Amino acid sequence: MENKRGKLFVYAGASGVGKGTIMKELLKKNESIKLSVSATTRSPREGEVDGREYFFVTKEKFKEMIAQEGFLEHAQYCDNFYGTPKAYVDEQLDKGYNVFLEIELQGAQNVLRLRPDAVSIFVMPPSVDELERRLRTRGTETEEAIIKRLSQAQVEMDNAKMYQYIIVNDDLDKAVEDVLEVVRKETC
Ligand code: 5GP
Repeated sequence: MENKRGKLFVYAGASGVGKGTIMKELLKKNESIKLSVSATTRSPREGEVDGREYFFVTKEKFKEMIAQEGFLEHAQYCDNFYGTPKAYVDEQLDKGYNVFLEIELQGAQNVLRLRPDAVSIFVMPPSVDELERRLRTRGTETEEAIIKRLSQAQVEMDNAKMYQYIIVNDDLDKAVEDVLEVVRKETC
């Protein structure tokens, strides 16, 4: 990578909107992008690997990481805790990579306060009905968790105005291209 310090991207959107799917394509298509792997207290979903999707930790370990000031930000989302390990983010930025933080609203607000130079992107579903359909067909959450996530999704969407860029995930290829365009524009 070049010597220039990379850019930090806050990349948010409601649960089920397809942030993760877009992210996988971004990583394949642009090698300047690195995704920060968060720590979480939630249980792994089928197919998720420790250290790849998340660092899956106990509540005790999470508290220890807070006490050691290991997080750039951390938040509670539905019934679990999520946090961005600080060291990785700064290492990658120093190496010139553009680092994406795939985080929820509270974390996004905290990062934007701490790092006002971060670029913020919000991924919108084509409609609330479509979001619900996606969340249900994904089949990874209990009914109770789906209801909580849908209610949280509404809060996230009500705050979409705070982000610099809003990407509608109607068509995957188009959404990926739109995010790549933001990266090109912000890093050129
Ligand atoms: P999920 O359980 O669906 O993987 O994630 C739930 C929500 O937590 C998503 O909106 C996701 O982007 C967000 N999230 C994941 N990692 C972090 C993190 O490190 N910090 C914050 N604040 N939110 C996170």
